[in-house]
Amino acid sequence: MPQKTSFDVRLGKWTRREFRQAMESCQLKGCILPLAAVEQHLEHMAMEHDWRSVNVIAEQVAEALRPGVVVAQGIMAGISEHHMKHPGTLSLSPGTFLSVVDDLVDSLVRAGFENILVLNGHGGNVIPCQQTWDQFLRRHPVNLHFMSYWDVLNQEDALDLLEGGHRLPEDLPGHAQEFETSMALRWFSENVRSQAMQDQKDRSPLLGTREKGEAFPRRIVERLTDYMHGMLAGSRKQTIPPFHP
Ligand SMILES: [Zn+2]
Repeated sequence: MPQKTSFDVRLGKWTRREFRQAMESCQLKGCILPLAAVEQHLEHMAMEHDWRSVNVIAEQVAEALRPGVVVAQGIMAGISEHHMKHPGTLSLSPGTFLSVVDDLVDSLVRAGFENILVLNGHGGNVIPCQQTWDQFLRRHPVNLHFMSYWDVLNQEDALDLLEGGHRLPEDLPGHAQEFETSMALRWFSENVRSQAMQDQKDRSPLLGTREKGEAFPRRIVERLTDYMHGMLAGSRKQTIPPFHP
């Protein structure tokens, strides 16, 4: 067993010895790889939002499955060309982004992980990843899953918890509006500028509350933990697509 006295779910906090020993003892069963974006989030929220929110979720899921799962924080930026009108946004082109994801997954497979959940926190990454996933599965034939952290939410959750609108995905997750602002208010409130919430055109962020920012992750983490538990237990196996005969 590793000699770590306190368990940190972030892979980057481990030394090579601690990691090697945890792998050799078969303690580590799975890994979460967060994907995000550094992009404008209206006038009132910091550009790192998607990175922070996806990591809040990933770390809580890993904590719930402790000590079998770590979070590999490999890439902050994502595909954000559609936000480039607002300077400060950092965007990767789809080819670059997918190459980096491919390399990071390859690193995790070579580290010995057989269960990898690529957990996304930014809408612009979704379609490129989904359309490429069958190729990734052929290249990395492990139990490799892709999903956005809000995929486990549904219409009922929107009706229960949101006040401003209940459409998926326009209101849930939306962009920097009621849902995301609630997440930030609860988990990293230093990223929210209350004055700017008052004077910008989009009023929907004003509906964000710490309470909603507590209620949503509770549901998300519970369902994602169940999902990943299935991955680790072998009941949720990814099918490797066939090759041409
Ligand atoms: Zn966002």
